[in-house]
Amino acid sequence: MLHQQLSRLALEYASERTKAFAGSEFGSFVRHDIGLTAKKQLVFLPYDLKVKASVGAGNWASVPWLGFFDPLITESATKGFYVVYLINAQTREIFLSLNQGTTAAYQSFGENRGREHLKRTALEISEKVPKFARYFDTSPIDLSSQDSLPSGYMAGHAFGRRYDALSIDEKQFYSDFEKMLAAYEALIDAGGTTPAEVMMEEAGTSDIEESRTYTLFRRIERSPNVRVPVLQKRGAVCEGCGLNPARDYDYQGPLKHTPLDVHHSKPIAGMAEGETRRYKIPDDFLVLCPTCHRVIHKQANPADLERLRRTVKFKH
Ligand SMILES: [Zn+2]
Ligand SMILES: [Zn+2]
Repeated sequence: MLHQQLSRLALEYASERTKAFAGSEFGSFVRHDIGLTAKKQLVFLPYDLKVKASVGAGNWASVPWLGFFDPLITESATKGFYVVYLINAQTREIFLSLNQGTTAAYQSFGENRGREHLKRTALEISEKVPKFARYFDTSPIDLSSQDSLPSGYMAGHAFGRRYDALSIDEKQFYSDFEKMLAAYEALIDAGGTTPAEVMMEEAGTSDIEESRTYTLFRRIERSPNVRVPVLQKRGAVCEGCGLNPARDYDYQGPLKHTPLDVHHSKPIAGMAEGETRRYKIPDDFLVLCPTCHRVIHKQANPADLERLRRTVKFKH
């Protein structure tokens, strides 16, 4: 089970990392076995997350980790925000953490200011999902390392839970895990770490709830994991006005770059915070040209395709 494997990782890592990295059996236990167990853990949960376990690339990392990534936000630990188990092999502790991409912050701001930035954003994360921050622990974590990446993980920690590898309470461990994934999704629903004023500006509204929904929908609509399958299944023709880029503009490029938008047309409503499957492909989407897409978002009901069609006055 996951808690047992993570406990083994925390207990044995210090001695395993004194051995050769290349071809390490322990390395493949972490990457493969722990990764697989973690994926199985998600089967009954309503989340489509990427899972990755790492002991470093080319060299033993000082802090091995197991991460969960929502493709709407990020597919790697280098950027965005995500859920992660961080291992302190010296103190034999495991930290469940809502954390952020250290590498991207360092690239944008340098290491010192990057850490300040991560700390600020960590606070903002807790403020955006206060119910979850209260359930977990918001105090700083100690990974017993001054190395560049671990320092970033410590700065980027928003909230989480500490476990002693020798005495994990199994029930607590799995209920924390579910709660943490719900917190992750709730944060995404709330617009992620995008500042409120930016969301309101982009959404063209001063209503915070409205701007959050807009931000989430745009994120879904732009996600490559959504866009391509929707275009494949619904066809690359505007469902509002009938514009067909292949016929009307002689567009011959790849499907993913076709000059059409994907519009999320089902309201996300009636679901508890963070407990959502946000969309069904292709049912919850429409394929629209950019103009029809703008117009449908201005309708009182942005799901009403019939109304949009009635307003189209021109003929191709
Ligand atoms: Zn159109
Ligand atoms: Zn849309």
